[in-house]
Amino acid sequence: MTGRTPIVAGNWKMNGLKASKGEIEAIISGLGTGPAPRAEALICPPATLVAGFAEIASSSALAIGAQDCHARVSGAHTGDISAQMLADAGASSIIVGHSERRADHGESNETVRAKAAAVLGERLTAIICVGETEAERKGGKTLEVVAGQLRGSLPEGANAANTVIAYEPVWAIGTGLTPTTGDVGEVHDMIRRELENLAGGEAAGMRILYGGSVKPSNAAELMAIDNVDGALVGGASLKADDFLAILSVYR
Ligand code: PEP
Repeated sequence: MTGRTPIVAGNWKMNGLKASKGEIEAIISGLGTGPAPRAEALICPPATLVAGFAEIASSSALAIGAQDCHARVSGAHTGDISAQMLADAGASSIIVGHSERRADHGESNETVRAKAAAVLGERLTAIICVGETEAERKGGKTLEVVAGQLRGSLPEGANAANTVIAYEPVWAIGTGLTPTTGDVGEVHDMIRRELENLAGGEAAGMRILYGGSVKPSNAAELMAIDNVDGALVGGASLKADDFLAILSVYR
């Protein structure tokens, strides 16, 4: 027993319309059927759906989060959305530094750290993503790259209650490929040690999620690895049945 409550978090990315509320209703109903999972359940839809889904999920076991935010609270930033706005819409958590943001929007560790600080400033949970590319893995640089991202992206004041780390190898996202359990364990162990250097006594309670092609068929094996405290799930979180099947690892 680690004392850490696992989290199964769904990242819907740029998918979902108001009509997708049926999936949220199905997840809520599934959560209420059978033994309660020993894990927190979170869905991060596109920003357009956060308020509506948060209303549907209020007073249920499902939390609603967001996928990104601006580092500032308000101002002249056309098209951007602040952590305060997402908190106001009912988000409990915000993903920051997803590899698609780092790659498509050129987000540096510094940017990610500023965004994570904004999340903590709203008393929400920051889910900070780190992970190596295929070239970095092949070049034997995985531990160095992930440790560097962690050191560069963790904000002041990060603690076990407000910060979650998601290790997501870039080459495993949306590809159906996953690292070996040994490779996942090696990175998660390193992240725990690095968190001890960065956050001292808080490190033991911080959740470290694995993400990258998690699906019902591989979830049990991945979630059984030491220092894996749940999953960040992309594609398989779009279908309530698959999301619930992954969550059932913790029933
Ligand atoms: C993700 O985008 O965070 C992710 C892990 O995607 P997938 O599960 O589809 O690989």
